[in-house]
Amino acid sequence: MKADPTEQQRLLDLAAEDVALTQLAHRRRNLPEVAAVEAAEEAEQTYAAEVIRTETAVRDLGREVTRLESDVETVRQREDKDQRLLDSGSVNAKQMTDLQHELDSLKRRQGDLEDQELELMQRLEDAEKAQAEAQQGLEKAKADLERVQQARGDAVADIADQMTRHEAARADVAGVVPPPLLSLYDRIRTQTGTTGAALLKARRCEGCRIELFGKELAAARNAAPDEVLRCDNCGRILVRTAESGL
Ligand SMILES: [Zn+2]
Repeated sequence: MKADPTEQQRLLDLAAEDVALTQLAHRRRNLPEVAAVEAAEEAEQTYAAEVIRTETAVRDLGREVTRLESDVETVRQREDKDQRLLDSGSVNAKQMTDLQHELDSLKRRQGDLEDQELELMQRLEDAEKAQAEAQQGLEKAKADLERVQQARGDAVADIADQMTRHEAARADVAGVVPPPLLSLYDRIRTQTGTTGAALLKARRCEGCRIELFGKELAAARNAAPDEVLRCDNCGRILVRTAESGL
């Protein structure tokens, strides 16, 4: 294939845009912001589960406290009733002894219940503290998630902006490259996955970084300026300039 050297050199501008677009696509696939969002989502889920767990614990302990308070109250009422009977003087000696025994046992029972209640109140207090901490953690995790989601959105939008600009620039260059040369370039680009042409700089293909020597170098030296050269190694169109070292 033959093409004017100026047209061949435009392929370097095209290649520069393709490199930029490839790098942007790579950046978009590997955004640290995406990993940050995933980590923040995980943290939020962990705290949300912790909030539910601690809320359940607080509710259960609260119910136990209520039940215990009601037990204490029942015992107290029974004590009051027995005490009133004793104080009334309307009971005989045997009944009095029985009542005294019952009162003693009720007092012990009340003491036990109050001990249990104290222990339970302590556990409830600890559970409430854990719940508050989990709630605080969840709020912070939510704020973190929102922040990293925003950062991810900004990064994605920034890449999209740059891609739009490079795509427009690429279209401008492609518009002035003769169609046969452009389609050859695009075919090679599909094969390499990046660019279809590279600068021959100091006898080295800048696409694959392999230096030309022997027959290949001689062929490049002897080729007419409008001859479209290809790198034997990577297949890219080799664009010659004053820097080519031929
Ligand atoms: Zn090459």
